[in-house]
Amino acid sequence: MKQITHWINGQTWVGDAKRRGKIFDPATGQQTGEVDFATNAEVEAAVAAAAAAFPAWRATSLAKRTTALFKLRELLATHVDEVAAILTSEHGKVTNDAAGEVARGLEVVEFACGIAQLLKGEFTENASTGVNVHSLRQPLGVVAGITPFNFPAMVPLWMFPLAIACGNTFVLKPSERDPSASNFLAELVAEAGIPNGVFNVVHGDKEAVDRILTHPGIAAVSFVGSTAVARYIYETAAHEGKRVQALGGAKNHMVVMPDADMGDAAEAAVSAGFGSAGERCMAASVLVAVGGCGDELVERIQARVARLTVGDGVNADSEMGPLVTVEHRDRVASYIGIGEAEGAKIAIDGRNHDVKGAPGGYWLGPSLIDEVSVDMRVYTDEIFGPVLSIVRVDSLDAALELIERNGYGNGAAIFTNDGGAAQRFETEVAAGMVGINVAIPVPVSYYSFGGWNDSLFGDLHIYGADGVQFYTRGKAVTSRWQNIGQHHASLAFPNATASEKARDESEG
Ligand code: NAD
Repeated sequence: MKQITHWINGQTWVGDAKRRGKIFDPATGQQTGEVDFATNAEVEAAVAAAAAAFPAWRATSLAKRTTALFKLRELLATHVDEVAAILTSEHGKVTNDAAGEVARGLEVVEFACGIAQLLKGEFTENASTGVNVHSLRQPLGVVAGITPFNFPAMVPLWMFPLAIACGNTFVLKPSERDPSASNFLAELVAEAGIPNGVFNVVHGDKEAVDRILTHPGIAAVSFVGSTAVARYIYETAAHEGKRVQALGGAKNHMVVMPDADMGDAAEAAVSAGFGSAGERCMAASVLVAVGGCGDELVERIQARVARLTVGDGVNADSEMGPLVTVEHRDRVASYIGIGEAEGAKIAIDGRNHDVKGAPGGYWLGPSLIDEVSVDMRVYTDEIFGPVLSIVRVDSLDAALELIERNGYGNGAAIFTNDGGAAQRFETEVAAGMVGINVAIPVPVSYYSFGGWNDSLFGDLHIYGADGVQFYTRGKAVTSRWQNIGQHHASLAFPNATASEKARDESEG
């Protein structure tokens, strides 16, 4: 049984854990370890280590920070398979999907390697006579990240590489359900030569989170998780005067127009609906069939799912693994019955799918629920599992209206061969990330990731240029190095209506 504990000030921190969580292998249902839950003491220790490391780290040259980030990039690239294996063993996702997760996180490290370019300020010469103005972006101090179970490597990597590249120090509180990847990342950070205390990990649950939210030594909080918790994080941390970005849940619509290539659309719906067992915030969970293309989509999806291998993620032929916990599997499975009771048609029942895996695993095959209407819970709730609903509508207008009214606004996709329809969709759809013939439009690291409405609380999206803005604060400097010693007091502001000569005189 592995024992996972905190990582503080560059080393494993064996505290006096009063509470612990259990870690399971979702493919077998066996407990494989325990994770210590932080109390105030461990959060204090992590924040103290991060605060102590901050002055020297923010003073470290961009050249040295960049060198360390390049090293981290190399280490991560070398260890992709090990990180992927950890993800599969605790989350359950299949190994090639887990490797893809690490690759998407690695992209953000690569983006952070360009921090010298990203932090460049502005300069204006001679704003007034002999007066120059320039701007700086400076780190905030100690910042924190709180992350969900479904991307135990990628979501922390969305946050900390850029935060530390900007000169901050970091405290991560990962999901207690699959905590090991964070410690592995912490070891790589140390091996990359990033000083002790710059990156710290505290494990735990709400108790640790609440201390982070109210800790006066933490300047900003990045959160990714469910909408209810995101709203709570946003409100609590903002009330404490912190900068906050809180990314929440989703109900992503994939619209299929009648002119789309139906083969492509059906394949994309299967990948986006059932990849990672539907436990992706950008998973397609509602397929919107426009203008009578629903029957063909259902038939094609049924044919593909009949050949889809559900099994232990470590097996190379598994396309979909188990769900993360037994409770989550049971909750997701219950929606098939709920949909049926609400009058929808179960076109594929995942409870009957053959599974190549141990009997104790948290299995559920892909499900397709047809003839779903917007008042049904299978439509309104975020199910977060391999359950895809189909809503049939007559027009693009109706599809856009559905998305507008849904409440979430993470991702939305359209499949079409009509450029006009695609352009209208891009302009009008109420979502932060849009795919055109791309079912999972997660932006590359040099754009930013974020949804609208109940999918994000805060102003700035995560990583990319928004990430640099989030993890820095601006400063504008006005300076004069000419005519020193010739200052004449004037109590008036420089006056826009006065002549240049008068202004020069008033500024001395
Ligand atoms: P979650 O909200 O249950 O947990 C997220 C984090 O918050 C964890 O670290 C957890 O320990 C902590 N937490 C849980 N309950 C808390 C509480 N009451 N008070 C304080 N902290 C609490 O989410 P999850 O189940 O781990 O992840 C799945 C959810 O995350 C889904 O809703 C999914 O859509 C969302 N998600 C969103 C994005 C995005 O980018 N928008 C990305 C990934 C996941």
